[in-house]
Amino acid sequence: MPSNPFRSAQFVISAAQLRQLPADEGAEIAFAGRSNAGKSSALNVICEQHGLARTSKTPGRTQLLNVFALEEGRRLIDLPGYGYAKVPEEMRVHWRKLIDAYMRERESLRGVVLIMDSRHPLKDFDRQMLTYCTEIELPCYVLLTKADKLSRSEGAKTLAAVRKECNANGWPAHMQLFSALAKTGVDEARMALGNLLNA
Ligand code: GDP
Repeated sequence: MPSNPFRSAQFVISAAQLRQLPADEGAEIAFAGRSNAGKSSALNVICEQHGLARTSKTPGRTQLLNVFALEEGRRLIDLPGYGYAKVPEEMRVHWRKLIDAYMRERESLRGVVLIMDSRHPLKDFDRQMLTYCTEIELPCYVLLTKADKLSRSEGAKTLAAVRKECNANGWPAHMQLFSALAKTGVDEARMALGNLLNA
């Protein structure tokens, strides 16, 4: 078993604005997903740290870009999750602008990891993210999480259906099934993330 490079992840800063982010050098990947999709759980399992992404759930930090440093100038960025959270429209517009600007301007950004609940994939937010990544030619890697809630055949069917839908829309995303609970697909995810960071 190779050692896990994500294990060294350490919280650095919660950034409300792009200029608060660490210097734009090295390589980073950003985690995105609707609230409750399972983003924090995925981050914790990938990094083998129970409370890592709790930082991002601390009141006041849920609307911020939370930065975790790895070794060798690499970083993971936890983007604000949104979805059904009852936030004023004004706030949504602010997040959207922040995330759009981050994704467009950040030179060290190598790709987005989009977390979707495998039972409810491709909601509006996910579609917007896939469309945006395609537009700006940023790789998007999809984790279909909570796969433990599906049978093996349902999982395979979901994976095939999401792939088909992405192809039909011209979204060049790669994807896999994942479960933070059952810890399935974790090595595969680490490998894919490592490849993005090293690209
Ligand atoms: P976030 O809002 O996207 O960060 O989502 P969380 O990681 O906090 O997870 C939301 C809920 O889904 C929590 O109740 C988690 O326990 C649950 N959850 C997350 N990942 C999994 C998983 O792989 N399997 C199952 N069964 N539940 C999960």
